[in-house]
Amino acid sequence: MCGIIGYIGDREANDILIAGLERLEYRGYDSAGVATIHNNSLCINKKEGRVQNLKELPKLSGNVGIAHTRWSTHGKPSDRNAHPFTDNTNSFTLVHNGIIENYLELKAGLQEAGVNFTSDTDSEVIVHLIAKAYIGNLKEAVLKVVNYLQGSFALCVINKDSDEIIGARNGSPLLVGLGDNENFLASDASAIIEHTKKVIYVNDFEVVGVKKDSVNIYDFNGNEKPKEIKTINWDLEQAQKSGYKHFMLKEIYEQPKVIEDSMQINFNEMLNTGANFNRIIIVACGTASYAGLVGKYVIEKVAKVPVINEIASEFRYKECLINENDLVIAISQSGETADTLAAIRLAKQKGAKTLGLINVVDSTIAREVDDVVYTRAGPEIGVASTKAFTSQLITLYKLAFHLIGEEFQFDVEKIKQALLLNESIRKLAKKYYQSTNFLYIGRNLSFPLALEGALKLKEISYIHAEAYPAGELKHGPIALVSEEMPTVAICPRDSVYEKTFSNIEEIKARSGKVITIATSGDEKIKKVSDDVIYIPEVQEILYPLIVAIPLQLFAYHVADLRDCDVDKPRNLAKSVTVE
Ligand code: GLU
Repeated sequence: MCGIIGYIGDREANDILIAGLERLEYRGYDSAGVATIHNNSLCINKKEGRVQNLKELPKLSGNVGIAHTRWSTHGKPSDRNAHPFTDNTNSFTLVHNGIIENYLELKAGLQEAGVNFTSDTDSEVIVHLIAKAYIGNLKEAVLKVVNYLQGSFALCVINKDSDEIIGARNGSPLLVGLGDNENFLASDASAIIEHTKKVIYVNDFEVVGVKKDSVNIYDFNGNEKPKEIKTINWDLEQAQKSGYKHFMLKEIYEQPKVIEDSMQINFNEMLNTGANFNRIIIVACGTASYAGLVGKYVIEKVAKVPVINEIASEFRYKECLINENDLVIAISQSGETADTLAAIRLAKQKGAKTLGLINVVDSTIAREVDDVVYTRAGPEIGVASTKAFTSQLITLYKLAFHLIGEEFQFDVEKIKQALLLNESIRKLAKKYYQSTNFLYIGRNLSFPLALEGALKLKEISYIHAEAYPAGELKHGPIALVSEEMPTVAICPRDSVYEKTFSNIEEIKARSGKVITIATSGDEKIKKVSDDVIYIPEVQEILYPLIVAIPLQLFAYHVADLRDCDVDKPRNLAKSVTVE
């Protein structure tokens, strides 16, 4: 959540910072701001709305600057709540990602001491504390202040007289990009990849001092730490739309390649056949949690290991009955999901083995788990996850088969065939895009896909959609069925086909409209469906991989026809780094 970028070098900072913010916009986009130092004074532009709005303001001069694109947690999106914030002497300015949980106490103390606040955010306290703690050395001031902050933060701060940006991190991502006589700070590499591929990841409880020709890392006690320089293994091309109208569509079409890449994944010894654990607990949020639910069905069926699925944000606060005989698997595209990270930390405390299925290399969860398997989706920019989901599925399938010492086989041609449905799904979307409610149903392996299909629709088209196990409908939700309530029924030819078929009949008997996702050649299903999306036939266990494609395409086209901002849906951010 929220994107941060800092620049220090010989070039003009303003445009570099704004271009970087645009690449970070998937992290948050309700307001944005930029600050530079020019002739020993701070220059600031900030504005509610998209980063684009900053381009309409007069350009700021200066070779040092920081910038922010916000996903508000405290204080509504507005000009006054946009970052950066300055202290009362206009000497310091700061951007922050995260939540300062004790900001009310800190704010009260500062107000008592005469400090004037200009925003409703939690973040603003930090800059005032730094101003108060400053006695000639910005790094020392930041080191003092971090000890007062409860909650999570990645922050960048500059002083009008200094030739240095100070960054600090506890719980929210931050990295340094190393250039030639210039350096960067950023929430993630996409912001700086056009300038450099050499990065240093800042860890929790570290403060970093970045000058144009030097970088120094310290722990929170001020002791200098060694630096580990890493090279980013993807390039700018992968973070661009390449002719597609939206990143989401591009990413849907990338799935055959992503699946091929993901098929190459290997597992190490910790997961070898007969590995020492009795149960698997999968923790995740959102789409990743639905991938995890497919994982449960598949692992239990194939490997006969019991699997429990936990929503990461709930797992943390309920009685945690896991132990050293459990394997806890965290699934996260970004590897920064705060709730999932917290769950993993708890699991480690309880002595469980931890495994991360993570897309972003060297992200926080990837670095904290006992073992990490990188899903091979490549950079995913669209806020609604598509290719990351399928790569998570492939990884879970591979894991299930690996646990019994077998190789997972999948013919990627089937995905390519499913993508040929694009045009017909656009037509279907034209028929239904004005509906205001949808039901999604599926049984067994199709149930998690019903959840994922409904989530995709909600996220990007803002249409209310509910997913149920097909058999559960009669226990309540069938009351919702009417001519105005279309149902997307996932009913491939599998072992529960007849059961789901009957559930569809129940909907038809109550005048509901049904769009069925069915196996190619199934003529019978037409009798109970208003529309049928035919998918290629595969082995029962593989249907989730195929079904995902029409569900993604349907949500995409409905949202596009409704003129929604597909890649940046309202209120959402991609990498959810707050709890
Ligand atoms: N909590 C801060 C705010 O609401 C930062 C949010 C963010 O990470 O964008 O401004």
